[in-house]
Amino acid sequence: MALGRKAAHTLPARARAVGCPSALQCSTLIVAMTEPGTSSRRPYAILDRDGTLIVERNYLTDPDGVELIDGVPQALRRLEALGVVPVVVTNQSAVGRGYMDLDRLAQIHERMEALLEAAGVRVAGIYACPHHPDAACTCRKPGTALAEQAARDLGFDLSSPGFVIGDAASDLELGRALGAIRILVRSGHGSATEERREVPWDQVFDDLASAVDWIEGVIDDSR
Ligand SMILES: [Mg+2]
Ligand SMILES: [Zn+2]
Repeated sequence: MALGRKAAHTLPARARAVGCPSALQCSTLIVAMTEPGTSSRRPYAILDRDGTLIVERNYLTDPDGVELIDGVPQALRRLEALGVVPVVVTNQSAVGRGYMDLDRLAQIHERMEALLEAAGVRVAGIYACPHHPDAACTCRKPGTALAEQAARDLGFDLSSPGFVIGDAASDLELGRALGAIRILVRSGHGSATEERREVPWDQVFDDLASAVDWIEGVIDDSR
């Protein structure tokens, strides 16, 4: 699970934020991301699982139900090429609700990783909160415990520039808690999240592939 560690990447010296509604935050982060000599400050992307990487099934409990959303392997490959650490952080209350056990959750993640590997990509890590929403744990998004654990395990710094990409309000709230650029995708429950407008985001795109187009474009434009 060490992808990204070898993706040391010479980042461009200048950057400009393009079309970012919360221009101050985005431009600050993007400039920080593209400053020279910041190889120890690798940008990270915390990716939601259901509705972002794989098709939303409403409490997926069957490994055979894992289906990558169109364009996801290519998007992950492009993040890797940009030197961005891709980490999955997912709420899996289906465990805490008694719909499946941890072994089954592991099988689902093995299936997802197998599909990604068949497409020639990997994620740096998969971190799941198995608890019931009433458990008041610190790892269920928007709790930051899993992001903190991932940063320790994988050797990136949460004070580095980062993105949180997902389809739910809890993803956007996690992004706010981490000071990351919050990207809402319309896949999964994302269109409904967009309509409710309960939680702000920095950018909204149809899917992960479109989100990575934007991330790539912002960095490429600065070269
Ligand atoms: Mg989701
Ligand atoms: Zn938890």
